Amino acid sequence: QAKTAGRNTVRFYDPSMQAALDRRSTLENELRHAIKRGEFTLHYQPQFDRLHRLIGAEALLRWQHPRDGLIAPAEFIPVSEQTSIILPIGSWVLETACAQLAAWSHGERTRGLMLGVNVSARQFRQPDFVDQVRNVLDSSHANPELLTLELTESMVLGDVADTIRKITALKQLGIHFSLDDFGTGFSSFSCLTRLSLDQLKIDKSFVVNLPGNGADAAIVTAIITMARSLGLNIIAEGVETEMQRAFLDSQGCHAYQGHLFSRPLTGEAFEAFVGGI
Ligand code: C2E
Ligand code: MG
Ligand code: MG
Ligand code: MG
Repeated sequence: QAKTAGRNTVRFYDPSMQAALDRRSTLENELRHAIKRGEFTLHYQPQFDRLHRLIGAEALLRWQHPRDGLIAPAEFIPVSEQTSIILPIGSWVLETACAQLAAWSHGERTRGLMLGVNVSARQFRQPDFVDQVRNVLDSSHANPELLTLELTESMVLGDVADTIRKITALKQLGIHFSLDDFGTGFSSFSCLTRLSLDQLKIDKSFVVNLPGNGADAAIVTAIITMARSLGLNIIAEGVETEMQRAFLDSQGCHAYQGHLFSRPLTGEAFEAFVGGI
């Protein structure tokens, strides 16, 4: 990269790279404004246990772009991760999710529901991440016992000692931890036991071809068996069909999330959904 090239080195100028950089800085600028202008919202995707009881939800970020409409996180989270813009976005998500959790505690049917919040690698690596979470919990009055932070394999492996320190400190507050997209990364078995996680989330890429795909069925069976024997709660994401659910159920999966049950819903739609169950 040009940045790391020393003096007197030849730099190759690539116009397509410049175009990509321009796009990125435009997006970064728009993202910076998006927070101030209130263009972000959280949607909530319901999660169910084996008996089809609602147990909680995952908060999923959406960007209501003034020109381009609703933008999914896959389009702006990776770019945000490469710049520090993910930090104010991550703070906004955590504050908004905790405010929602606190509001749910006043509803007869929403009280006690768990809420999963995705944390980005950069956000988690902040030296004051633990304090940030503690402050948000204090000011929102959300119950930490109902908050699940979702981490991914690649981010927990970066600096295992730092990860353990942070998870331990936050677990003392009552917070739960989930390992998202499980199976797509490279976590070792020893890591799984050392991190004192609460939940594994089976990535939807393993669920989509169940039960027909023998290899995926074998992987899912192995993940569930391992998670259960480690005492971890196991939830499958991306469950779209009754056949998928039935297979996961037969293997002992504890919980489900996916279009079979519900798509992610706005806060209002979520409350209507809960009222209608
Ligand atoms: P994820 O955390 O693994 O979230 C699950 C994704 O699966 C969501 O995509 C959800 O809408 C989608 N999904 C749920 N059920 C189904 C289904 O039945 N079929 C299929 N095909 N997909 C289903 P979404 O909302 O587009 O989010 C994508 C990713 O963006 C998330 O993956 C997460 O990694 C990231 N993300 C979302 N919100 C946040 C956030 O607030 N902060 C951070 N750092 N990342 C976020
Ligand atoms: Mg997630
Ligand atoms: Mg996931
Ligand atoms: Mg994913």
